[in-house]
Amino acid sequence: MDITRRQFFKISSGAIGTAVAAEAVGLGADTSAMQQQAQKVPIKTGKQVPTICPYCAVGCGQIATIDEKGTIIDIQGNPDSPINQGTLCPKGAATFQLVNNDLRMTMVKYRAPGSDHWEEKPLDWAMDRIAGLTKKTRDANFNEFQNMPDGKGGTIRKRVMNTYAVASLGGATMDNEWNYTHQKLMHALGVVYLENQARI
Ligand code: SF4
Repeated sequence: MDITRRQFFKISSGAIGTAVAAEAVGLGADTSAMQQQAQKVPIKTGKQVPTICPYCAVGCGQIATIDEKGTIIDIQGNPDSPINQGTLCPKGAATFQLVNNDLRMTMVKYRAPGSDHWEEKPLDWAMDRIAGLTKKTRDANFNEFQNMPDGKGGTIRKRVMNTYAVASLGGATMDNEWNYTHQKLMHALGVVYLENQARI
């Protein structure tokens, strides 16, 4: 039997609904052991602090629960957030592991040209180096004028004030306001290769 994509989804959702209904009236698998186990899991209590997921510009609301020492012991979706209404994507749901993780890097890692090992550097050092190298590269590759097609088969020399030696690739954490400011900075430098990886 040939079925369309739309029919497939209709049949699938009907089958899932039937399975859930069967479970509800006791015709499905026995979940009592699971329920007993779930009741043994301690509910984490503490001070609840509303916050925002740090991973992307969707900006889902979260509630971080902290103990009396100020340590985060749980992070859940915030049901009061109009953005996510208590839900979190898999990445956001794992935010707890971002703050409580021995493998988390808290220092800048730098490997010098030709070196075979990484060094730890302060963030300010890294920022200054990025700014210095960006300016050096831009100044060494700045185009004040450029020959362009004149539309009649010839070329015309135009003032362009740009550089093709620097590119900017933004990440999903950058929100609208940051992107606006960032593109202003890049255009002021003459950067024309500007791209952003959106999450939505
Ligand atoms: S979509 Fe996921 S990663 Fe983005 S803010 Fe929401 S929970 Fe975080």
